[in-house]
Amino acid sequence: MTKGTFPVESFKGLETPFYYYDVNLLKETLSIVKEITHKYGYIQHYAVKANANHRILQTIATAGFGADCVSGNEVKAAINAGFPASKVVFAGVGKTDKEINLALDYNIFCFNVESLPELEVMNELAEKKGKTASVAIRINPNVDAHTHEYITTGLNENKFGFSISFLPKVFEKIKTLKNIELIGIHFHIGSQITELDTFSELCEKLNDIQAICDKEGINIQHINLGGGLGIDYDDPNANPIPDFKGYYELINQKVSLRKGQILHTELGRSIVAQCGSLISRVTYVKEGESKKFVILDAGMTDLIRPALYQAYHKIENISSNLPVQQYDVVGPICESSDCFAKDYDLNETKRADFVALRSAGAYGEIMASQYNCRELPKAYLSDSL
Ligand SMILES: *Cc1c(COP(=O)(O)O)cnc(C)c1O
Repeated sequence: MTKGTFPVESFKGLETPFYYYDVNLLKETLSIVKEITHKYGYIQHYAVKANANHRILQTIATAGFGADCVSGNEVKAAINAGFPASKVVFAGVGKTDKEINLALDYNIFCFNVESLPELEVMNELAEKKGKTASVAIRINPNVDAHTHEYITTGLNENKFGFSISFLPKVFEKIKTLKNIELIGIHFHIGSQITELDTFSELCEKLNDIQAICDKEGINIQHINLGGGLGIDYDDPNANPIPDFKGYYELINQKVSLRKGQILHTELGRSIVAQCGSLISRVTYVKEGESKKFVILDAGMTDLIRPALYQAYHKIENISSNLPVQQYDVVGPICESSDCFAKDYDLNETKRADFVALRSAGAYGEIMASQYNCRELPKAYLSDSL
């Protein structure tokens, strides 16, 4: 397998670990998504939780995307980075009064609502401000995303959204709430979904739900299919840009929109994952009894996905072209789960070599913690090195 290209010379003056983002790849990804969604007349939001680095957000806002937020601070971060409030949606099962008030003050486009008590609270808070909150109902379509259980969100026993059988009741309730306007329905069934069949199933459920809305005499203007498109963690060099074409073609084929309806998607991972790598220096190469360990200066505090979801990130020694050897690649944190890979083929590795953990642009930097009193990793964009 080929390795990625990195400006290793420019890395030499930098303290590790840090995230490195390839801006050209990000921009190319954005322009491909824009071109396809423009063709179909769909609106694209970016799910801020995947990566809220200010410059990354600015780049995505400049490309004309909307923002999908799951906390009040994400709403703030998106707007500070240049996303217009009129393109911001706010989802999440546990929005606090403070967060709802903040989003009402910004006049965001839409709240994705996940429970009846939330609707009531939102109605009260909007009434106090003399405003109307535009909402989309998050529906749990009971589609299995066939992904890791921690990132499946669309099954009935899940904490997210309303079950389909609740819909008539929710519509009735909304009619009684004077400061709530129903403008859409929303879905999000999971993340790192690589089988397009799964989205196909979601589209079919959507068509069933449209029929329920018709029957109830409810006119839905906005349909938000959520995010979840997966990426190729195994071979990022062969597949740096996910199959957006197949994904949107499928939606276009399967979904029957009513007159005037607008379709939205809110992709996170597939937009930013491949443009980011976690760059680390090798602190030690340690010989065990039967194994060799590469000990990095990056650990689970910098990139938690392997420890949290047993996720795989391709690892490359970008300083060495020596013949391959097998190593366990581990971090310095005092936890056994602080291990990036076992029995992994790396070019022969020495102390101070640079090692890249690939496909780390999504759910990487943003999930970093300071456990063990570590510093948060820094971040550099390729155009500012
Ligand atoms: C996380 C999330 C997304 C983005 O998911 P990806 O798998 O990163 O594309 C979109 N919408 C909502 C509501 C989310 O919670």
